Amino acid sequence: MKSLYICCGIVKDVNMEVERMKTLLTDFETKQCIVCDSKQEKGIFLYNGFICESCERDIVQTDTDDARYLFYLQQLRKIQLPKV
Ligand SMILES: [Zn+2]
Repeated sequence: MKSLYICCGIVKDVNMEVERMKTLLTDFETKQCIVCDSKQEKGIFLYNGFICESCERDIVQTDTDDARYLFYLQQLRKIQLPKV
């Protein structure tokens, strides 16, 4: 079950990154959330992906055992992470 271990590593990483990398938006430009696909004014940028306020809260509060977390994870994979 090699992929499961990789998956768990990403799960932990994403939660940490959301906390660390979130940047509050100050402009009123409407952005499309990569998680729920709705257009919102308020939210955070995670690298080049926009996540609306409510999704960001959900992601942080959702337990990693929760089935919804896998959905969030899939959506977050749209973000192009900078290569180290
Ligand atoms: Zn959203």
